[in-house]
Amino acid sequence: MGPLVVANWKMNGSEQLLKTVVREVGGLAEATVVLALPAAYLSLPKGFPDTSIEWAGQNVHWLDSGPYTGEVSVGMLAELGVGWCLVGHSERRQHFAETDDLVLAKTKACLELGIRPIVCVGENLQERKAGKALEVVSRQLLAVLNGVPSALAQWIVVAYEPVWAIGTGEEASPEIAQEVHEALKRAARSNIKALELRVLYGGSVNADNASALMRMPDVDGVLVGGASLEAVGFRRLCEQVAGSV
Ligand code: PEP
Repeated sequence: MGPLVVANWKMNGSEQLLKTVVREVGGLAEATVVLALPAAYLSLPKGFPDTSIEWAGQNVHWLDSGPYTGEVSVGMLAELGVGWCLVGHSERRQHFAETDDLVLAKTKACLELGIRPIVCVGENLQERKAGKALEVVSRQLLAVLNGVPSALAQWIVVAYEPVWAIGTGEEASPEIAQEVHEALKRAARSNIKALELRVLYGGSVNADNASALMRMPDVDGVLVGGASLEAVGFRRLCEQVAGSV
């Protein structure tokens, strides 16, 4: 599989933006482009049956069904043809009190129904300043890997998203990303033999810094928030990533 670009729209976007983005990046061959849309828009991709774009949820419940107003199940995502789902984004950990245990439960629920979880990990500024970045991200990763069936772990993609770089315009340097990605892959291999973990970098990625990040040997793709909301710039970004192979 080539490099991966995952666009996280968060609670942004519109039907019109979706049409424009599909037109701009729908034919890209050298990279896989995944759009993580707000739940309310996840039935819209049915209108684009021929696009190469793949689709992701931004969040999902860990149970099949039940009295959980406002929630969406993995089965519902699967029924819509959604193949991926973000799990444990720092905004969910921060604003919706998602714990490592909850992230594991959601990851397992995704894997059981064949939806590929994109598990987000990342340290905050205080943790980085205290020299604890690798410890924090390894803990977040192992909380997931220790709890999923080893045979299914290969379907997990991890996104390293330092909290201090998300939406701030201050991206991690390629060297920092490389150091953390390498550590995550090492931790994964020591936990599940021969696991070739794919690790994306996320945090203020744009068309101007994507190439340098992609040149790092352990950066397998990017997770993009703000820069995915402007179609032409996002196409440039995707082209940079696609051109890195
Ligand atoms: C994100 O929220 O996953 C993200 C990477 O956001 P941004 O690119 O805006 O920093």
